[in-house]
Parts: sequence; structure tokens; C-alpha cells
Amino acid sequence: MTKFGPRSITTAIVADASQTMKLVIWSHELLEQLREGGFYCISFLRVKMFEKGQLNTTPQTKVIPIPPFEDVKSDIEEICHEQVINVQLQSVQVLKKISCPICFKILDSNEYQQPLVRCSSCNFKVLTTSLPTQISVVAYAQIDGQQKKLQVSTEAVETLVTAESKPELKDDLDAFEDFLILNKFEIHLSTENIVTKMRKC
Ligand SMILES: [Zn+2]
Repeated sequence: MTKFGPRSITTAIVADASQTMKLVIWSHELLEQLREGGFYCISFLRVKMFEKGQLNTTPQTKVIPIPPFEDVKSDIEEICHEQVINVQLQSVQVLKKISCPICFKILDSNEYQQPLVRCSSCNFKVLTTSLPTQISVVAYAQIDGQQKKLQVSTEAVETLVTAESKPELKDDLDAFEDFLILNKFEIHLSTENIVTKMRKC
């Protein structure tokens, strides 16, 4: 559920001749146009700056079926390989991010405190109060005897606050940081140290 209404989120794996990536599908209509193993030309996707290796659909995303091609990279095993571990986070930073609806550049926090701002990237003037905010969580934890920097996906943040019935944490970032440090979590950790799922132990 987002503040714009219900949303079903599905994660898929997409591949072309050069690489394999995760694709987060944010709309049921798009999902219905895709089937596993199909070949498509998918346009108007976005890559979030703070979730490398992951594509997201946008309201403009178009799906066109194309003829199959032979040369598909398949390191799907590798990208799906996730560790499930219990961690105690040692230090965390929770930030609120807003991205430009035109070019998807992350706006500077000074910029989005004002109701109107000119995006320094695309030069459009945007009303920041109408934009969805995303919570970015970066944390450090000791894993396998090593200090690791973890990036919690926005999807994992959403499911965590929903499961804990604490949506207010997204508005009180200081309380959110306390919650993350003072509890233990079971996390799903990708090979790129992205937390794709987390829940309180
Ligand atoms: Zn822009």
C-alpha cells in the first residue's frame, strides 16, 4: 500500500545478451503483459541511484513482445543467491529521498523542504509536496567476521514497517534508526549486500 493507493509489487529477473538484473514491477497491468520466459522490449524503466543492480517500472513503462533471441546471459542463479541471516545492526542512517518526477534525479534534501523547486538536472519546476518519498536505509553490521555496509531496499523498508504496524517510523527517522539498532533482524542479503527482505526476530 502506498499513499497513492494499493499497489502490488512483484520482483522479476530480466536478462539480455550482456547482463541479468532484477526488475521490480509496480503495476498489476504491466505484470499481466509479461510471462516467464517471454521476450520483450521494455522501455521507460528507471534505475534508482541507491539501489544499484535493480530496475523499476514507472507509470510510463511500455512492454512490447519481441521475437525470441538465442543469446541471453544466464547468471540467474547468481543474482537470486541470497543469504538469510540474523543480524544486529551496529550503525544505521535513515534518509528520506524524493526524486524528480521528470528525470528521476534524487532531489537535494534542501531542495525538497521548499514546496516548489526547480530540478537542477532537467530544469522542470516541481511541487515537492505531491511527490512520493522513499526511505533509504544504510547500515553497518558484522557478518561472517567482516564489517559490511548494507543497503536496505525501499521494498524491504515498506514490508518491514507494514509487518510491524509502524508506518509512523517513516516520518520519524530518528525513531526509525533507534528501532533498527535496538532490535535484531532476520535479513535476506543479496550478493551485492542489498537487503531485499527483513523482519524483526
Ligand atoms: Zn528533473
